[in-house]
Formats: sequence, C-alpha cells, structure tokens
Amino acid sequence: MSKVTKEFIYGMPKAELHIHLEGSLEPELKLKLAKKNNIDLGMDTVEAIKETYQFDDLSSFLDVYYQGMEVLQDRDDFYNLAMEYFKTAQKHNVKYAEVFFDPQAHTTRGVAFEEVIEGYYKATQAAKKLGIKANLIMCFLRDMSAESALEHYQMAKAYQDWILGIGLDSDERDNPPLKFAELFKMAKNDGYKITMHCDIDQKDSIKHIEAVLYQIGAQRIDHGTNIIEDQSLVDYAVENEIGFTKCPVSNRFVTGDLKSKEIKSLLDQGIKVTINSDDPAYFQSYISDDIYTLAQAVELTKAEIIQLAKNSFEVAWISEAEKKNYLAQIAKYVEKED
Ligand SMILES: [Zn+2]
Repeated sequence: MSKVTKEFIYGMPKAELHIHLEGSLEPELKLKLAKKNNIDLGMDTVEAIKETYQFDDLSSFLDVYYQGMEVLQDRDDFYNLAMEYFKTAQKHNVKYAEVFFDPQAHTTRGVAFEEVIEGYYKATQAAKKLGIKANLIMCFLRDMSAESALEHYQMAKAYQDWILGIGLDSDERDNPPLKFAELFKMAKNDGYKITMHCDIDQKDSIKHIEAVLYQIGAQRIDHGTNIIEDQSLVDYAVENEIGFTKCPVSNRFVTGDLKSKEIKSLLDQGIKVTINSDDPAYFQSYISDDIYTLAQAVELTKAEIIQLAKNSFEVAWISEAEKKNYLAQIAKYVEKED
C-alpha cells in the first residue's frame, strides 16, 4: 500500500465520538456572541483570545474552558455553536457524530436546561442537510455532586428521545466513576448508552478504568489510555469490544505527550480505538488533524487508518444496518483511492 497522505485521511468517511460541543467554540464565534449578548470579555480580537489558550494540565484547560462558555446564553447560541462544528466536521468527511454537551456548565450560570437542549437538538436535525447524522450525549460534571447530576438527569426526562447516551467528564481528581454508580445504573435501565471519561495519567487511573468496565459496565471509555498498564483489562476490553475514544492532540495539551505509542500499541492489540478531536477550538485540531498528527508520530499505515475509521462506526451507537452502510462507504472510498 502507498504512503498515507493528509488528503487520504481528510477524505476518509468517519464517525466522531468524542467532541464536546462547548469545546468547539472558536474565538470568532466567541467574539460574535459576546457582542450579541453584551458580555465584556476583556478582549476584542481573535489573537487576544487565542493567547489565553495556554494550558499545561487539565485544570488550567478547564479554567479557560468554563470561562469561555459565558457567551452562550440562549437556544440560538447553542444552535449556532453546534452548527459551526457540524459545518467543519462536514469538511472532514464526518458522516456520523455523537456529540457531548455539559448542561451543568450552563444551568449553574442561570441558563435554563431547555435553552441548551432545544438549541443543540435543533442543530442535530439541521446537520442532516450537511450529510451528517448526529446524536447527543449528555455529560455530567464529575467535580459536581451526584445529587446535582441526578437533578439534571430528571430535568432531561422530558427530552429522553433526544438524548442517546450519558457520559461523565471534567476534573477526575478525587471524583471516581463510582461516585456516580447509582445514577449510571439508572441510566442504563432507562435505555441510555453509557460512556465515561478516564483521563490520562490520573491518580488511580487503573482503578477507575476497572470500575468503569467491571462495575459500571460502560460500552465505551473516553481516553482510557492507561489501560495499557494492565493486560487483563486490555484482554477484557478486546473481548468485549469496548470502544476507546482517543484524542492525541488533546493529550499533548494536557500532558505534553500525544500518547501515540500507547494508542498505536492498543490498536495493535485489537482494542477498538477511535481518534477524535475532544475540544477542537481550544486545541486547534479537528478530527482529521488528530488522525494525521498520530499517523505522522507513529507512521501509521493505510491499513491502520482504515481500521481507525472502521472502528469509529463499529463502536458507534447505531444499528447494524447503518454500520454496514458506513463500512461500505469506507470500502468504496479505499477502492477509489488505491
Ligand atoms: Zn473529552
């Protein structure tokens, strides 16, 4: 097979499964919404905003990230934010997306849950016109209480048909997965799909991954790269086809390392690894850029790029018929490119 090019990666039909809509807020839109909502950011150029995007760990990133959200005030803002992401995703040949949103990051600022969900859901419907099917995953902020998560879970009841899955994100320090065990059990019983973040190099990373797999019974793990330290967990994840949504450029921002060798090794061991952008506006890298960065770092072959794309649909929460259809699109693309 010939060498992997940037064009080959960009053109590949793919699914994105780990993207925080709030993390796709580009400086241009941030400025526009600040103006619309009369919010003084203390900055009035794209360059000034970009200068604040300096992070050396997860906490310093989260500080800037939550601050940026204040410009999101009503359903139109949420709609526009999501549509900007879908328009960019279209250029990367994303055919299917499961997108995260964090209601607590907005309700705690006084924005009604309805504004958030109505805006985002409308965008998922409009994305169809761009050739993208999209579903919402509602995430809880793990650094808030289990009671707050439950309160938001109840708020979402009226919108259950609009929400495909439940996730867990934000600061993992001292906020283990089991803090939310009861809630995720309930969510599973209510028919939601389940995923959880297990961030890179956290205190008790392995313990957390173990809890997510064995006790919570999640179908996917977001990041979860430290699983490589425990062969029995790797074997379990391979056998049970657990999806792992990796984000190499995000890893570099918060840990100084793409974790490319670990990602490649997990892929070689048969883990269903997928590559995603996480918070693309903040890390200035959308899905194909992440795949290309990884491909360069560990010299991925064409076959491995194809495998990553296949994995993204195989661990997506879609029907078998849909998976078959998307995999056929990959086969057709590869045939044309060869
Ligand atoms: Zn994430």
